[in-house]
Amino acid sequence: MVVELVCVGTELLLGNIVNTNAAFLAEQCAALGLSCYYQSVVGDNEERLTATLKTAMERSDVVILCGGLGPTPDDLTKEAAAKVCGLPLVEDAHTRAMIEAYFEKSQWKVIPDNNWKQAEVPQGAIVIDNHNGTAPGLIIEVNGKSVILLPGPPNELIPMFKNGIAPYLNRLQPEIIYSRMVKLAGIGESQVAAEIDDMIQKQTNPTIATYAKTGEVHLRVTAKAKDEEEAKKLIKPVVKELKERFGNYIYSVKEDETLEEAVVRLLKKYNLSLTTAESCTGGLLAGRLVNVPGVSEVFKQGFITYSDKAKRKLLDVSKSTLKKYGAVSEETVKEMAKGGVFATDSDVCVAISGIAGPDGGNEEKPVGTVYIGCYINDKVTVEQYLFKGNRAKIRDYSVVCALDLLRRSILENYGEK
Ligand code: ATP
Repeated sequence: MVVELVCVGTELLLGNIVNTNAAFLAEQCAALGLSCYYQSVVGDNEERLTATLKTAMERSDVVILCGGLGPTPDDLTKEAAAKVCGLPLVEDAHTRAMIEAYFEKSQWKVIPDNNWKQAEVPQGAIVIDNHNGTAPGLIIEVNGKSVILLPGPPNELIPMFKNGIAPYLNRLQPEIIYSRMVKLAGIGESQVAAEIDDMIQKQTNPTIATYAKTGEVHLRVTAKAKDEEEAKKLIKPVVKELKERFGNYIYSVKEDETLEEAVVRLLKKYNLSLTTAESCTGGLLAGRLVNVPGVSEVFKQGFITYSDKAKRKLLDVSKSTLKKYGAVSEETVKEMAKGGVFATDSDVCVAISGIAGPDGGNEEKPVGTVYIGCYINDKVTVEQYLFKGNRAKIRDYSVVCALDLLRRSILENYGEK
């Protein structure tokens, strides 16, 4: 089945916003086993939107439009789609009630008149509720094709796609697509590819796709089957085999679990309190950890010790260590990690010190040199890295590797042997 994406919005054409919806939808459709040959971006212009939609409907089975479902006159996706499909717009009582309930819960108790426009749907369209906004999602089925309309804001579109659209698309296909994610850290993409080369060579169903992320590799195992139960049966031995081959490199087999969430899960499991001591990452590590709801149970304190003075004063790094080895050194990071634990009476401390550039490097320690230490169980482990890329990339890599060192250290010290 062929799907096509049409993202609507003059802001997108002008480059004012990045088209993250296209990336999200394309990835999701690929995971559902749909072929996507075309994506378009069109401004808030009825004539051009109509022409784009007509072309898309001629060459694809499903057209997903996003954006332009708002209450203002320049939001005209629904009007254009209804016209192209030859359907009148009629008020949907359920959507009207949803809009009333949405405003009732929000701080704006008075419903602006133009919002009622959002209660109108093309006659016969399937309505997908929007629990995070007022524009419902719509599915129009016409001449064996499906036209799907989604609101532009990602916080509305993403849950709507996952809960309402993905199951619908799966139902359209003779076989369902089911996939599991295996997420790895601490190992490079090429090593991962080499380790599973034989599996990839002989794969038919399920298939394994590799995605490289900053400091992480994700493997998506996808099976086609008549139902979910059969697909799960096909996937199970493949995931088992991946677990055997990659062991502790795997940090999660849950679709939505991030590396920081996996780390916090382990800290909670072993009842360990954490402190961070950061230099070149300037709080990025603490920020990633604080992304996780409930981290307050385990996260005690985050130090940003950018200067030598701060390292000495807050983490008790000795003057002689800093003088002899420098702030970016194994010895300093060791003392930072130890100092963090003692200053806060935590079980674990992760420390980072490095040269993010573009200046500050030398022959012995070029830009990208980063030391990461983890104090746990009265021992400090320090790893040295040389990251490539600009300042932002080096800092991002440092955070991922720090989270991963923390994760591996917990498993080595407390995990099942
Ligand atoms: P609303 O009801 O909020 O008006 P809408 O369906 O009319 O939603 P738009 O007005 O097109 O959507 O876009 C609203 C906002 O959603 C944009 O300002 C932007 O922040 C975000 N957005 C829209 N399209 C995209 C996209 N393709 N990728 C990422 N964000 C988007």
